Amino acid sequence: MIKFLDLQAITAKYQDEISEAVGRVVQSGWYLQGKANADFEADYARFIGSDYCVGCANGLDALILIFRAYLELGYLQPGDEVLVPANTFIASVLAITENNLKPVLVEPDPETLQIDETRMEAAITPRTKALCLVHLYGRNAYTQAIAALCEQHHLLLVEDNAQAHGCRCGELRTGALGHASGHSFYPGKNLGALGDGGAVTTNDKALADTIRALANYGSQAKYVFKYAGRNSRLDEIQAAALQVKLRHLEEDNAHRQAIAAYYYEHLNHPCLRLPRRLPDAENVYHLFPIFLQTKAQRDSLQAYLTAQGVQTLIHYPIPPHLQECYAKAPWNDYAAVAATAHSAAQPSQLSITEHLADTELSLPISPVMSIQDAQIIVELINHWH
Ligand SMILES: *Cc1c(COP(=O)(O)O)cnc(C)c1O
Repeated sequence: MIKFLDLQAITAKYQDEISEAVGRVVQSGWYLQGKANADFEADYARFIGSDYCVGCANGLDALILIFRAYLELGYLQPGDEVLVPANTFIASVLAITENNLKPVLVEPDPETLQIDETRMEAAITPRTKALCLVHLYGRNAYTQAIAALCEQHHLLLVEDNAQAHGCRCGELRTGALGHASGHSFYPGKNLGALGDGGAVTTNDKALADTIRALANYGSQAKYVFKYAGRNSRLDEIQAAALQVKLRHLEEDNAHRQAIAAYYYEHLNHPCLRLPRRLPDAENVYHLFPIFLQTKAQRDSLQAYLTAQGVQTLIHYPIPPHLQECYAKAPWNDYAAVAATAHSAAQPSQLSITEHLADTELSLPISPVMSIQDAQIIVELINHWH
């Protein structure tokens, strides 16, 4: 059987180093806000190319804290509009709605799967104050055109770098391209902890200080509370494990890229469409999405691969605007249009996103998967009827 993601093998690869680092924390008696956290923050900031890194409990919190800090600092007001790709994982949208900001869902380019800059420009109104740029599937989504639009319309550029740790963009890396970036260290991410973890990176000292306070009950000095904050910390055990795994991230990403290159070179079934690669958009392949022509075809290929012992997943089967949690959200007129679209033969506002959700299939890819496994998967798919 070929697993979608073999976390046991991923940890086993560096188990001695991880066990030693975690053991030191266990032995130290100091479990929060200590040396491991400070050291990891410094290492990760240097790696990403940002001046500041603040560890926190998970990736969703990292994004929530960024928007909350911009509200506290007066850069954003409740009700302000934030552009976000419609085909993202729901956490990007939750971070916006959690802060009483208004998500404006923008369709992706179906070839690259990243936010479509032409549609992004069309969605900008006088109330648009920020862009949440998601480097989806591990691919850099930042372009000069997006940077220019943000500049021209004075938009805060918040990156969601949960899926693209280590991805390069010129001299910089994703996570250092905008005003602030949220990172997730969920175990399955390219840089994954042994539990939950997250971080914010930024070059803005006031923002970093505000986020550090907000994540610590709103406190800057012990027992003095400037904000009604929350508790969101990266614990010492996770920070110690992450420090070890960060040292191997580039090697792990290179392996993902080798698997992806194999897939690109050898997958040739006529019903498949692979995302278009562009020389100036690096990809660290958090996921390897392929697209079929119809939902029935996708479901049939998935069932066939499951029967052959190959695990696959769908990222993501239901887009945020069609989720129950947002069914009655005042900003969500996308859902109503989607519901009437079929009967009225009128295209849904987010038809690209809906079609991608219906036809996407993610193939196994990881730093521990062998080329032989990729070969087996390719053979199976290319011979599928
Ligand atoms: C995983 C993920 C998050 C959330 O991270 P958690 O650590 O699981 O809270 C946010 N955005 C995207 C795009 C993700 O893939």
